[in-house]
Parts: sequence; C-alpha cells; structure tokens
Amino acid sequence: MASTLIGKQAVVIGAGMGGLTAAGALANHFDRVVIFERDTLPSESTFRPGTPQARHVHALLLSGQRALSELFPGFEQDLARAGAVPLRVGLDVRMERPGYDPFPQRDLGWSSYAVSRPAIERAVRRRVESHANITLRQSCRVQEVSASPNGAAVTGVRYENGDGASETIAADLVVDASGRGALTLALLQSIGRPLPEETTIGIDLGYATCVLAIPDDASTDWKGVMTFGQAPQNSRGGLMLPLEGNRWMATIGGRHGDVPPGDAEGFLTYARALRTPTIYNAISRAKRLNGVARYGFPESVRRHFERLDAFPRGLLPIGDAICRFNPVYGQGMSVAALEARLLQGLLERIAGGSVPIAELAPTFFTDVQTVIETPWAVAQLDFAFPDTRGQRPANFETTLKFGIALTRLAAEDPAVHKLMLEVQHLLRPRSAYTDPVLVQRVFAKMVHA
Ligand SMILES: Cc1cc2nc3c(=O)[nH]c(=O)nc-3n(C[C@H](O)[C@H](O)[C@H](O)COP(=O)(O)OP(=O)(O)OC[C@H]3O[C@@H](n4cnc5c(N)ncnc54)[C@H](O)[C@@H]3O)c2cc1C
Repeated sequence: MASTLIGKQAVVIGAGMGGLTAAGALANHFDRVVIFERDTLPSESTFRPGTPQARHVHALLLSGQRALSELFPGFEQDLARAGAVPLRVGLDVRMERPGYDPFPQRDLGWSSYAVSRPAIERAVRRRVESHANITLRQSCRVQEVSASPNGAAVTGVRYENGDGASETIAADLVVDASGRGALTLALLQSIGRPLPEETTIGIDLGYATCVLAIPDDASTDWKGVMTFGQAPQNSRGGLMLPLEGNRWMATIGGRHGDVPPGDAEGFLTYARALRTPTIYNAISRAKRLNGVARYGFPESVRRHFERLDAFPRGLLPIGDAICRFNPVYGQGMSVAALEARLLQGLLERIAGGSVPIAELAPTFFTDVQTVIETPWAVAQLDFAFPDTRGQRPANFETTLKFGIALTRLAAEDPAVHKLMLEVQHLLRPRSAYTDPVLVQRVFAKMVHA
C-alpha cells in the first residue's frame, strides 16, 4: 500500500477549534503531530482563559457538526453523551424577526445539538488525544515561528514550556491556529515579506451572557429563542440556547455603544428592552447560576493570504487566523472544522502526488475562499446598520431587499425555508439563491412589496 505520510513532524499552535480539528486532519500524514497550547487545559468542560469567548453562546451549525463527524466518526454521539440537547432545526428555536414573532416553526428534517463551547472543545480534544501520534503539550506558549535564513521555509517553533524555559522544536509543517495569527504576521514581518491585505467590517459589538437553571415550568413551545432587533434603528438582539445540565445560556448584545452592562440587574434591564419580551420573561423567572460575562468584538476581519505572491513553505494559518466573523451568526467553529476538512482533502492529494507539498499553503489559500465566501457574505449583512465601518458591497440595497423578500417567501413555503436554513448552516453556498426560478419568485415578492 502506498504511504500516506508526507512529513515527519507537524506542529500546531493552539488547541482551540481550529488547532484540534487541523491536528485530526494531519494525523494520517505525519509521523508525529505536536499541539502547543498556552493554557493549562481543564479535564472537565470548564472555561479557560485562552478562549474567553467560550463564556458566550456557541451555536454549532449543521455544516460544522457534519465536518466534525467526518473528521472524527461518531462525533455526534460524543456530543449526545456530553449532555448536548438535540434541536430539530427550524422547529425548536423560536426565531423572532421583525414582522415574524415568531417565524413559522417547522420541522425541516435535521437535528443539531446545543451544548457549551467548553463541552464541544473537550469532546474534540478527547478524540484528538486518542490518536497515538498526536501529542498535546499544554501550558506551552509558542513565542516564535522560525524560518530558514532566507525566509523561504519554516523550520519549527520556539516555545516557553510549563517551567518557563525556552525550547525549540523542528517541524516540516507549522499550523497557526492561535486565533489571532500574530505569530504568522510576526514571521512575515521579520523576513521582510508583505503582510496580507485585510478587509474589515467594523461593528463594535458588545455581548453579555448569563447561565441560568431551566425552570420546571419553562415554555414547551421552544427550546431556544433568537430575537433580532429592527435594523437599522435597533441593533439589540438576543440568543438563548439550552446547554448540558438542564441550563440555558442567554447572550444579549448590541452595537456601536448600545451594549449591555456587566451587572445582573443591568443585564435584566437590557433584556427587557429587547424588541420582544420572550427572553426577558424566561430569564426573569429563572435562577442565575453565574455572574454576567462580557465580550467586545470590534470587527470582522478577513486576511487575504491568497493575494500574497509568496508565502514561507511549511506554514499554514487556519481558523480565526485567516478570517474572524461577527459571532452573532455562529459561524466561526463550523468554518474552522470545514477548513480542517479542506486541509484533510489537500493532504490526501499531496500524498497521492497530484499536488506538490510546496504548494500546500498557496493551494489551501485559493481553495479556502469557497469555504469563506458564504459566511463572509453573511457577515456583510452588518452593513444594514449605518454605523458599520468598511466598504459596503456593491448593490447592497438590492441584496437587503432580496433578503427581505426571500424571508417572506420562506415564511410561506417550507421548501424555501429549508433552502434558507441550508445556506445559513453553510450546507449550501449563497449562490443557491441565484437559481432562476427562485430569483423570479423573489423578484415577484419584491415588486409586490
Ligand atoms: C463572543 C463570541 C461568540 C462566538 N460564538 C460563536 C458561535 O456561536 N458559533 C461559532 O461557531 N463560533 C462562535 N464564535 C467564534 C469561535 O469562537 C471561533 O471562530 C473559533 O473558536 C475559532 O477557532 P480558532 O482555533 O481559530 O481560535 P480559538 O478557538 O480561539 O483557539 C485559539 C487557541 O490558541 C491558543 N493560543 C493562542 N496563542 C498561543 C500561543 N502563542 N501558543 C500556544 N497557544 C496559543 C489559545 O489559548 C486558544 O486555545 C464566537 C466568537 C466570539 C468572540
């Protein structure tokens, strides 16, 4: 049998969603994969400082769930065993949009899972740790990615071990899954290469989150609620989902200064001013299990590595290091898992000889555009708010009107509702909306409006 190995040692920086899933993809193609994580990792599903976003609602889209199951067969059962709450997509989460309070609830035939981010990460970590050739080095902060003297190729990383001593390790491939990607940018700078251009969408989002015990008399009409404000006047929204352990996690937030306070009373007052009373009514009677956690998210950022003429061989940024999306749309973890699947396919092509190993990063940067395109188009909807900073896409008014008419059609027609959710869950590209028959129907609605 032909060997699938393409290198001796791969190093992954960061044991978040991007790093863990990438390690799963690398394991078949390297003798050894070493993940470095700056945090000390908890054995339970608890928070850790390196991923402060984990204190907030983390919805796992169907595309992400499926990608995780492809990387780690049987992963959905792992989630179920971790106490994840199954949700019938289209039915169990009450969607409250202006004009639809609620949007028609229909069972569209799929199940997703609601579970805390630490529990998802722990389930993935367990899978990764079960690989004999993957080593997870916790409490080790990578300080620098090292390169050959001419900067053409990466040679390994320098890291600080748990005792505070600096050590180096050689690698044929370094995957930067550190979230911010600062080490990749620092390397490019140190070898005199240009940094990737960035497209940003400035949204100044403020999040606040509480965990609550689900009361015995909670509504049985829904398991979760998502409430949108009325754009462009009102940016306040909320998402409440069930978690393992019979709990709700309620996240509320707004933009450009209209952000929730960090105390319990202020949290409730802000929730009461959401466009509908559903979340407030539910949480005001529920027992709060922790304090209020806050998070500020200034902008979505897309780094255009694909536009660089040259890139050091043996280095690959992944996940948020390439693109960070407004978290309201719940896309980041799923995109990271889809990128790991893309990497897995690319490594197979390299092992099969159809792509030279030197082309790994350039090919990945080109191919990943198809993964990023739809979630980025979703993030661009933020231009519905006039204070959003950045380059408004061409014909944005038409895009907004198309979206409003499509939503109206989806409320009436379960098939269009299903298509909309397939796109929102990143199961189908946004180009699915260009189907001529659908376009005609949507235009008819627009004319009618
Ligand atoms: C408030 C908020 C809510 C969100 N909600 C959702 C949601 O509902 N659904 C969703 O899919 N996504 C959501 N996201 C996005 C999601 O959290 C990220 O997209 C996803 O975690 C990206 O994975 P990553 O591996 O790139 O980064 P991360 O998961 O952040 O992991 C980076 C890891 O690298 C480690 N690290 C960093 N530097 C070093 C170093 N020098 N050495 C060693 N280790 C290092 C960190 O400790 C961390 O463990 C949300 C984000 C935010 C901010």
